[in-house]
Amino acid sequence: MIRNAQIHFNDAGTPVADSFDDVYFSNDDGQAESDYVFYSQNRLNTRLLNHDRDHFVVAETGFGTGLNFLNTWAQFQRLKSQRNVQRLYFISFEKYPIKIEDLRQALKAWPDLSIQAQQLCAQYPDAVEGCHRLEFDEGDVILDLWFGDVHASLPKLSYTPDGLVDAWYLDGFAPSKNPDMWQQSLFDAMAALSRANATFATFTAAGFVRRGLQQAGFDCQKVKGYGRKREMVIGQFNEADPQATNPEYYRHPTRKLERVAIIGGGIGSACLSYQLAKRNISTTLFCKDETLAGGASHNRQGAVYPNLQAEYSTTSELYALSFLYARRFYQQIEAAGFNFEHDWCGVLLQSVTDGKKTQHQKIANSDLFPESLIRYVSVAEAQKLANIDTPFDGLFIEQAGWVSPPQLTEAVYNAAQAKCPGQQYFNADVSELDKREDGWYLHVNKQWQGPFSDVFVCAGEHSDGYTQTQHLGLHGVRGQVSHIQAGEASSGLTTVLCHKGYFTPSAQGEHCMGATFEKYSKGREVTEQDNATNRAQLQGFYGDTQFDQSLGEITGAKAAVRCCFNDHFPMAGQVPDPNSLCDAFANLRRGKHDDFAPLAQPHEGLHVVTGFGARGLCSAPLVTEHLVAALCDEPRPFSERLNQALHPARFVVRDLIRNKI
Ligand code: SAM
Repeated sequence: MIRNAQIHFNDAGTPVADSFDDVYFSNDDGQAESDYVFYSQNRLNTRLLNHDRDHFVVAETGFGTGLNFLNTWAQFQRLKSQRNVQRLYFISFEKYPIKIEDLRQALKAWPDLSIQAQQLCAQYPDAVEGCHRLEFDEGDVILDLWFGDVHASLPKLSYTPDGLVDAWYLDGFAPSKNPDMWQQSLFDAMAALSRANATFATFTAAGFVRRGLQQAGFDCQKVKGYGRKREMVIGQFNEADPQATNPEYYRHPTRKLERVAIIGGGIGSACLSYQLAKRNISTTLFCKDETLAGGASHNRQGAVYPNLQAEYSTTSELYALSFLYARRFYQQIEAAGFNFEHDWCGVLLQSVTDGKKTQHQKIANSDLFPESLIRYVSVAEAQKLANIDTPFDGLFIEQAGWVSPPQLTEAVYNAAQAKCPGQQYFNADVSELDKREDGWYLHVNKQWQGPFSDVFVCAGEHSDGYTQTQHLGLHGVRGQVSHIQAGEASSGLTTVLCHKGYFTPSAQGEHCMGATFEKYSKGREVTEQDNATNRAQLQGFYGDTQFDQSLGEITGAKAAVRCCFNDHFPMAGQVPDPNSLCDAFANLRRGKHDDFAPLAQPHEGLHVVTGFGARGLCSAPLVTEHLVAALCDEPRPFSERLNQALHPARFVVRDLIRNKI
């Protein structure tokens, strides 16, 4: 559980952390101090102008009020016309996030940063453990805010032997007030994450800090401190440390992404094209249907909410962080003028069975998530929130709700096109993929199209329809959602209800009611039997209520196939070749995690993004962002354990480790 900071403001108006008894920034001109100590002493002005790649990565220990971030962002904006760096990544670690009200108050002190401060406050996330990716200036400035102890978070980052960080802001309360943070293990972890020639700057001149950094491999130097402070320490890391959290078998080869094709027209494809467009990479889309969202993204109303568990499992981490990102992401799409029908009216997870009740109580008692994300509600509260006579208590996810998936898919895709136009072909059935010397070719309606440097297969349950992808191991789960006429009592419904399936507030006089769940079926025909199943399920739980009794006829339905993997995780990465993986990583069978043979890459440039199941509206924005960031060798929003959970090689690697293949 992440606890918020308890703070007060001293006579000078400076925020002070009660438990550390230390100020967040200097009483006299904290902004000038931040600029001198961290921005200038890391020589960021010069380095942003002449960096060796188009993104630059700052990492900071202790986000606090975000002053260092806001100042760096403002400086980055100021250099816009001169710098060769396109994107600024700012990764910051915070154990005790400041409450939003305190943040607003603290940032009032910096009128010339007020525009940035307002944007930060608008996106400031709930206190949930893990990495919150916040994007500003149309994705040119990216803040990865890791909530949790820096010692626990650093090893979770997904990074390769080349390192990640260009400049460190070694902040945190004074070593005497916060000895737990200033440990050798921190300096060593900094070294592991540093790129060659990474720098650091810290306000403290404490001898043990300097010696610790030296021991970790930094060349250190004392320089004049800010204002009345005599000294501070800066330094440089000369050679990248070959450590990585990202084992060789879970790597994502860096790509140039010059000519990109996307196969599929659902929410996954739309999000992927947006994440690429944000980086100025245009795409050519091939969609076998007449319009976007002809597959599993076709329902009238889809619930968007995170799938949380009572432990901080990979599932909880994936969905909690993806959900919060999705809300920010969709908000930005809307703010850019791309509208879609939706209502963030909240989702009630109803305790309709004893099993659900136990599960819900465990989540509520787990202390993992703040009430602003998920909270227990009694029957009376549930009735008030939903405005219907539900007999169940349960959990309430206030920020969740429903969207129109086809409209959302179109909005996201159009937003991507507005950023970086590409081409799109509808009724374009891609039947084969062929890798030739100059790139990938797609056999589309009996003609070969290409070459493409990269092809992303985002075709849901059809994603295994190519010789290269037939081993992916996906299966279809058929689902039918029925539309039912609203009655007087049911029209009052003001939240989405989740029982075993879901039931939405009425839109245009009808509710969506569903969905059926038929594993290993790829049938798309609407059946009367499934309508009856949906109706019977709702009636089974709510038959005695006025709202259920007020419902009219079933007027129609939609059936589609969701694409799933056995472990219920999506898949994002290069299409694996099982034989090459077995040859290269044969040592895994003997319990050895090194000394591998070179990996042959017959499918280099061919990627898969699918397996979202019924949860793509929640997870697709961040899953696609993670993959694109990894391919562009940029910081990744997911932890290494999530990177592995989504990696296409996972099934083969697991089997090798268990010596099963
Ligand atoms: N950089 C901040 C700014 O611009 O406002 C000021 C940082 S403040 C002096 C120190 C921050 O470090 C506090 O927010 C504190 O909660 C955080 N902190 C202290 N120990 C930590 C730890 N072990 N892991 C992560 N954050 C920590």
